[in-house]
Amino acid sequence: MVQTLRSPVRGMLIDSRQRPLRDLRISVTDRCNFRCVYCMPKEVFGRDYKFMPSAQLLTFEEITRLARIFVAHGVKKIRLTGGEPLVRSDIEKLVAMLAQIEGLEDLALTTNGSLLARKARALKDAGLRRISVSLDALDNGIFQSMNDVGFPVEHVLEGIEAAAAAGLAPIKVNMVVKRSINRHCIVDMARYFHAAGHILRIIEFMDVGHTNGWNMDEVVPAAEVIALINAELPLEPFPPNYPGEVATRFRYKDGSGEVGVIASVTEPFCPSCTRARLSSDGKLFTCLFGIVGTDFRTPLRLGKSDEELSELLRSAWTVRADRYSEIRSSRTAALSKVEMSYIGG
Ligand code: SF4
Repeated sequence: MVQTLRSPVRGMLIDSRQRPLRDLRISVTDRCNFRCVYCMPKEVFGRDYKFMPSAQLLTFEEITRLARIFVAHGVKKIRLTGGEPLVRSDIEKLVAMLAQIEGLEDLALTTNGSLLARKARALKDAGLRRISVSLDALDNGIFQSMNDVGFPVEHVLEGIEAAAAAGLAPIKVNMVVKRSINRHCIVDMARYFHAAGHILRIIEFMDVGHTNGWNMDEVVPAAEVIALINAELPLEPFPPNYPGEVATRFRYKDGSGEVGVIASVTEPFCPSCTRARLSSDGKLFTCLFGIVGTDFRTPLRLGKSDEELSELLRSAWTVRADRYSEIRSSRTAALSKVEMSYIGG
């Protein structure tokens, strides 16, 4: 008999700007097999970079226990991230544990697709509902220059097709655009995934962390992206799937699918942000551009009760007032913000 996991402590949590806690992104590792220039530049994350030893990472049991408490306080959707989540061994075991949490409505994962062809079936069978694959270009040279480890694009495309074959379609494909590198690839990507029946999401280059050399000149605004695609493949606005959805959706006028833009820089969406992020060593961040997190691993390992952990969550979320994208400036861009590879996108 499958034992469903319930938390004794319950109740929706609302932050100081009336935003409910609804989405939890869980980073399961700070490691990745890519060195994407906008996330984990090789110059910083080189051969000698010290990643966290496994003893510092939350175990699957610890992640599941915390996730159960978050769900009891309103989380409906969990997304597994990294680094690259598929480099964490037996990740499908964690998926199966999380899939049993009562009240969890959606379980998704974001991957660079490098290991997806091998793992897609096992992830689906374990209970994964949806998958997003990061892919910044179809042109192999451009893609390899952006992942900066020479990983070939066809292996990621094979992974996307394996995920579709495993029943995870439509796949969301996340493309980060840097003006000087892959702006000219946008329409090709739109055409390809329009034909393939997957959902392309184009992400404005963001000043995440403090090592990716961000500057506004490299940002291609969402309006410009949509104009480029619309000129080739006519679009019309499309309503969000749910309140607080990150992407602005557009439907192809030919009725066959959609495309979206994630415009954190030029069209901030902080007023509807319902996302919390848990790092792989158990720190809660209430904003992607956060600087300090709330440590849950220490109280967990000190044997604190669900009630005590729940109280820690309540005290962290209810005072939340984050709105980084609304106040972004050249001064804030230089702040020592937490790295995206550490808390997941
Ligand atoms: S900047 Fe922070 S508060 Fe605003 S939408 Fe992003 S994660 Fe949410």
